Amino acid sequence: MGTGEPNKKPGFILVISGPSGCGKSTICRNLLEDERVDFSVSVTTRKPREGELDGREYLFVDEDRFREYVDSGAFLEWKEVHGNCYGTLKEPVENALAEGRIYLVEIDVQGGEALKLIRVPGVFIFVAPPDLDTLRRRLVDRGTDTPEVIEQRMRKATWEMDHADLYDHIVVNQDLNIAIAEVRRLAGLAEKADV
Ligand code: ADP
Ligand code: 5GP
Repeated sequence: MGTGEPNKKPGFILVISGPSGCGKSTICRNLLEDERVDFSVSVTTRKPREGELDGREYLFVDEDRFREYVDSGAFLEWKEVHGNCYGTLKEPVENALAEGRIYLVEIDVQGGEALKLIRVPGVFIFVAPPDLDTLRRRLVDRGTDTPEVIEQRMRKATWEMDHADLYDHIVVNQDLNIAIAEVRRLAGLAEKADV
């Protein structure tokens, strides 16, 4: 005996993608209240926004350091998104899978597609806004982006919505609590009371 924990459930990645402003971060914040879930901290060349901490939301690095990560093969996938580079580190994913954890990966559609292609065990969820007008309003109300950046994100949103079929599930984030419950159910996190 003593061969570890035979009943431990296998770990998997929980991939959440969708257009900027659809509510990914809001939903992920809720999922992270569950102790079974860990957050994949991506590496990025983007500058921190107000309130963001290095090592919590992202590892913030300059372009040279990012290139070193790429060259050393440290990323499972990396992409340029809205003019900045973002990458998912390989090692923490491998550790989380080995430990039977649910590893929450909030990445763009190109990244989600890359992870699907390399067949990491996972549940892939696309979060969609109710419609594009609502998406724009959420981006404006969030108040974190200039009008130019919002237009850039809106242009990309149409392309992203066209790729939603790559995902295992599409969750429309109209009512936040319903969307959260749906994502929790799909990830196997729902308690009996909220199924
Ligand atoms: P993303 O991470 O996809 O860019 P956020 O989680 O930052 O999106 O959400 C964008 C904005 O929309 C935030 O201000 C958030 O509070 C708001 N929001 C998220 N979900 C809803 C919802 N269901 N109804 C109304 N506002 C929402
Ligand atoms: P933001 O700058 O708003 O935090 O993120 C911009 C976009 O980059 C979002 O769509 C986010 O999901 C995506 N993103 C964050 N981390 C990664 C990553 O490691 N890889 C990829 N491909 N996209 C990421």
